[in-house]
Amino acid sequence: MLGLGSLELKEVARACGQPAYRGGQVARWLFERSELDLDRMSDLPRAFREQIAAAGYVPGELTFVTDRQTPDGTRKFLLASPRGGTLEAVLMPHWTDAEAVHTDLEGIRPERVTACISTQIGCAVGCAFCATGLSGFHRNVAAGEMIEQVVRMQGQSGYRISNVVFMGMGEPLLNYNDTLKAVRILNAEVGIGMRHLTISTAGIIPGIDRLADERLQLTLAVSLHTADDSLRDTLVPINRRYPLADLKAAMKQYVARTSRRITIECVLLSGVNDSPAQARELVRYLEGLNAHVNLIPYNATDAQFEPSRPAAVEAFREVIERSGRAVSVRVERGRQIDAACGQLRRRMAAGGEAIRKEHDGAGS
Ligand code: SAH
Ligand code: SF4
Repeated sequence: MLGLGSLELKEVARACGQPAYRGGQVARWLFERSELDLDRMSDLPRAFREQIAAAGYVPGELTFVTDRQTPDGTRKFLLASPRGGTLEAVLMPHWTDAEAVHTDLEGIRPERVTACISTQIGCAVGCAFCATGLSGFHRNVAAGEMIEQVVRMQGQSGYRISNVVFMGMGEPLLNYNDTLKAVRILNAEVGIGMRHLTISTAGIIPGIDRLADERLQLTLAVSLHTADDSLRDTLVPINRRYPLADLKAAMKQYVARTSRRITIECVLLSGVNDSPAQARELVRYLEGLNAHVNLIPYNATDAQFEPSRPAAVEAFREVIERSGRAVSVRVERGRQIDAACGQLRRRMAAGGEAIRKEHDGAGS
């Protein structure tokens, strides 16, 4: 039912012979109070609850498989779906007081809380450094399942989620309709401001064009990683279909249509894309584009790549900063719990026992 907005829920109420406002009540339980148990929606007549169930509507369908937490409060959830497969979702509270990270977090309210959600199970793009890509594509995640990741984490943690990033497993622009439906419901029903929603893409140009036409105020993040076409062909295979020059044209048009600044993401891999010369190449590529650069420490998934050394990250950052462009380095979170793209799911598939032992020793 989480894939239905208030208007559609009002239709459900009418179809059950109930006044439309009853649908609005259901919407408030689901989206505002994170209540996914029909029997606990106490102001609904029992007959209506029974009609809803008899018509085959279920408020939530996912079940928690694991829930791992690191000392900074980052929690990673694995959720099983009766439609098949498991979804990863991560909850990241951000604390005002930096000290809070090292002290007892009980009773301290986070300044903001970000949910990172999955839009596909697996991913067909197959980026060389990404655990999700290595698992191949399984299926699209439905809009209701995307909302449910947010609502369930909200219910489980007791935190109100303030930001949602579509940066978990999968390529959101290859599951365009459901992703956009989830965006609209998160905005209109769950109450998350458009500017607090971020869609991250590997650079699917038709999707970027379509999104530009929606003229939404959400944030578009493009996982660029490098401004060198031949290197990008190997890191992000979709680059062969949507090469850098075309991608830049699409991004420029996106900025022109939405008046929003784009976030350019670069996962820095040691000795692969992290030299000062490559930073200068990136600066040249971005000329004339309203974009901010976010450097992401690589979360090692296998032996092929290594994370850039801190000195290399700093040198790369400096080149960009000196060019006058805004640049930030993402704070690394939840590495002990595999809180990056497809990692937890992949390890669970490889053998849950191994992961449990590892985490027991991780001090979380
Ligand atoms: N498919 C979309 C969104 C999901 S991936 C995209 O590629 O943008 C979200 C982000 O995580 C991307 O920027 C991706 O490059 C990054 N990522 C993937 N694997 C990673 C890893 N092992 N360490 C750090 N970041 C990773
Ligand atoms: Fe897919 Fe994004 Fe992973 Fe690339 S980085 S394989 S696009 S999920």
